[in-house]
Amino acid sequence: MKFVSFVKDNIKMAGVINSKGKIVPFSAIDGFEKTEGVLDFIKNFQVKLPEGLEKAADMALNSFDISDVKVLAPIPQMQRNVICLGKNYVEHVLEVKSKIADAPGIPKYPIYFSKFANPASAHGDTINLDTEATNALDYEAELAIVIGKTCKNVSHEDAYDYIFGYTIVNDLSARDIQNRHIQWFKGKNLDGYCPIGPVIEHNSSVGNPMNLNISSKVNGELRQHSNTKNMIFDIPFILEDLSKTMTLYPGDIISTGTPEGVGMGFTPPKYLNKGDVVECEVEGIGVLMNKIG
Ligand code: MG
Repeated sequence: MKFVSFVKDNIKMAGVINSKGKIVPFSAIDGFEKTEGVLDFIKNFQVKLPEGLEKAADMALNSFDISDVKVLAPIPQMQRNVICLGKNYVEHVLEVKSKIADAPGIPKYPIYFSKFANPASAHGDTINLDTEATNALDYEAELAIVIGKTCKNVSHEDAYDYIFGYTIVNDLSARDIQNRHIQWFKGKNLDGYCPIGPVIEHNSSVGNPMNLNISSKVNGELRQHSNTKNMIFDIPFILEDLSKTMTLYPGDIISTGTPEGVGMGFTPPKYLNKGDVVECEVEGIGVLMNKIG
């Protein structure tokens, strides 16, 4: 089941996509009327889909066509930064190394950084390319985990018991700024550089998250095409490792890194230009589309 935040007739709402493919606001779902948003739903129900939700969403009298709403990021006002992994696919590490001679090789430990996501950019938003600031805007399609339950010291075996669902992040990166400042934070945090969505897919309908096709296209041209099974550090490892030292909370988002095929990996590089359309796709979750403007 897909969870979505959206604007309809200038009113911000949240809800689910029912089995007929319609968006149903929580306010129209019997028993869930008081849910204030996707984050509120996650805090209330944690990781299991509540009994009766799917049926109640199908029976709702009020629903919208997806084309009639403006989709927002699933959690439009994140309470914390998105936690991100860098260099979590071998082939991506190698493509970076082929361009930057002194770049480190395969990491022994996960590389973490974070992205501001308050506000997060949404599916369909135009991302501002400030050509005074950067000449090297790049895309990175990533599978992202949405935490469902407060947790600390999660074991590898129990990791999936704490995950509400999954979404897509485009880890937009200004490569020139990223490399100039050594630490990646600045180059990955220009305004609007964290599109998330279009939905959060509940864990019960994702299948094996460690075996999902992941890809990106620019103006329809396939750039990245891999599978989440190629991650260096898998989802249970990431949750065990992070939660050893850091409490994770409902609604926290962890973006698991990008595979090969980013713009900087091409010769010459294929960075983004104004007018480009970027689509990031993860099997079973959807397509996160943004324009560059
Ligand atoms: Mg990334």
